[in-house]
Amino acid sequence: MNTKTLVVVKGNCPQNHPCPSVPICPVDALKQNGFNAPTVDLDDCIRCGKCTNFCPMNALVLV
Ligand code: SF4
Repeated sequence: MNTKTLVVVKGNCPQNHPCPSVPICPVDALKQNGFNAPTVDLDDCIRCGKCTNFCPMNALVLV
């Protein structure tokens, strides 16, 4: 079992654009309200890491 969790590092997100990681999440666990930093539904997230590779600001990290 993957014990990692996805953390949104708001301080790394400029919050001025549509998050490129939201549409690539395979289980639709990422949501974005306006240009705010995205939020993750950890009940849905399967810790695949795709979003962490897609965010150029390293605002999405698996720890
Ligand atoms: S780790 Fe995978 S499942 Fe979880 S939010 Fe990121 S893309 Fe979605």
